Amino acid sequence: MNRTYDIVVVGAGPAGLAAATAASNAGHRVAVVDDNPHAGGQIWRAGAGRSAADRAKEQAIAAFEASGADLFAGHQVVDAAPSPGTLQAWVGAEQRLESFAFESLILATGARERFLPFPGWTLPGVFGAGGLQALVRGGYDIRGKRVVVAGTGPLLLAVAAHLKQDGAEIVTIAEQAPMRRLAGFATNLISRPAKVLQGMRLRTELGSVPYRTGCWVVAVEGGETVTAVRLTDGSRTWTERCDLLACGFHLVPNTELASLLECRMTEAGVEVSAEQQTSVKGIYCAGEPTGVAGVDAATVQGKIAGLVAAGKSAAATQLYARRDAEAAFGRAMTLAFALRPELLSLAAPDTIVCRCEDVRLGDLQGKMMPRKDWTDAKLQTRCGMGPCQGRICGPALEALFGWRNASVRPPVFPVPISALCSAPSDDEVSILEPQEISR
Ligand SMILES: Cc1cc2nc3c(=O)[nH]c(=O)nc-3n(C[C@H](O)[C@H](O)[C@H](O)COP(=O)(O)OP(=O)(O)OC[C@H]3O[C@@H](n4cnc5c(N)ncnc54)[C@H](O)[C@@H]3O)c2cc1C
Repeated sequence: MNRTYDIVVVGAGPAGLAAATAASNAGHRVAVVDDNPHAGGQIWRAGAGRSAADRAKEQAIAAFEASGADLFAGHQVVDAAPSPGTLQAWVGAEQRLESFAFESLILATGARERFLPFPGWTLPGVFGAGGLQALVRGGYDIRGKRVVVAGTGPLLLAVAAHLKQDGAEIVTIAEQAPMRRLAGFATNLISRPAKVLQGMRLRTELGSVPYRTGCWVVAVEGGETVTAVRLTDGSRTWTERCDLLACGFHLVPNTELASLLECRMTEAGVEVSAEQQTSVKGIYCAGEPTGVAGVDAATVQGKIAGLVAAGKSAAATQLYARRDAEAAFGRAMTLAFALRPELLSLAAPDTIVCRCEDVRLGDLQGKMMPRKDWTDAKLQTRCGMGPCQGRICGPALEALFGWRNASVRPPVFPVPISALCSAPSDDEVSILEPQEISR
């Protein structure tokens, strides 16, 4: 089926919902396409509560529904072209592709967690911090489980508090950033009472749970599953017994669709103008893909992108100052939670770096001939060529070796060949050669 809209938004998180609401309220036909079963993105996942985040979610979703924009949940965008504007979404529940035609496109694809390899990180019982939180929100019973929360970023506190509320015993929180850097970051919060209050609330909820700064995981112990985690503060190493490790090293922007559309990138993510316009005409970007900066930045960027795409640039200028302040906060957060060099030498030669293809660090270091870049690693070892298409090992290898995955090709998520073959073979759907699909 081919659906036609003035504006299509990819992503129904805070940025996408704000963009769609603004554009639809301005009188445009707007569709939001998201791969999750419900709107809300990462922070506003299913699972109602009475926190400030839950209230913000309710308000954003009510405003979105009132705007009349259409939501296509469970639709994963796998291919897109800028001119004429078309995209293809994989509808997993119905095992088919669906096409959308648009005048303008707003990319609000969010971010994902960064993982780094260390001995034992692929053992059952090791989860991404946000990933475990999502599982628990989805019904996973964590009551009575001893959990170590480790890695870096503000997400660790939020996850620990949430898991504790759901009955987990949080053994410790290990934040790799040193206290000196975090203290510097705290000065940024002085002008943001809401964030200070949120931090204080989380700390109160966590009670006596230790929050160790300058502390990181060196290895996970266990046989079939995690039994303990080895932690260090650089001078002392000790073992904490636990059932689960929730570990994530801050976030990396989801820029694959923007790369496919040949939007220019910066170090932080997708390059955008003051109007959230990318380097490709008619394509806008909002939220975490432009640089990780949190929910308030995502919301205001989304509003600007929606207004500008709907031809209301003058109204959007009122929001620039707020957007710029949030961006500054995001940059300070990135500096505060930058990775310490010790984390980049935790993996041993036999540590798996690419989980999909079972590629070990030693395979990339090769005694005779070390791999020289991402493409060389892919060609020689199949690193990054499994189902996640380098989403997990790509950012890790960028941190470890400085390798960047320069080539993004459709489909950006795996799609069964049968679906690609039965899709309408008009100009709007790119049928790929089998060898490309098996990448
Ligand atoms: C796992 C995780 C958990 C988090 N938990 C918290 C938390 O508890 N508290 C907090 O303050 N912050 C949390 N964050 C950070 C928070 O997500 C951001 O601050 C904020 O939600 C960003 O909003 P956004 O709209 O830019 O992106 P998101 O909320 O990430 O929304 C992007 C949406 O786009 C969808 N999407 C991406 N690509 C495609 C595609 N190709 N096709 C279709 N849909 C697509 C995603 O599935 C997602 O629903 C979390 C982040 C992650 C990664």
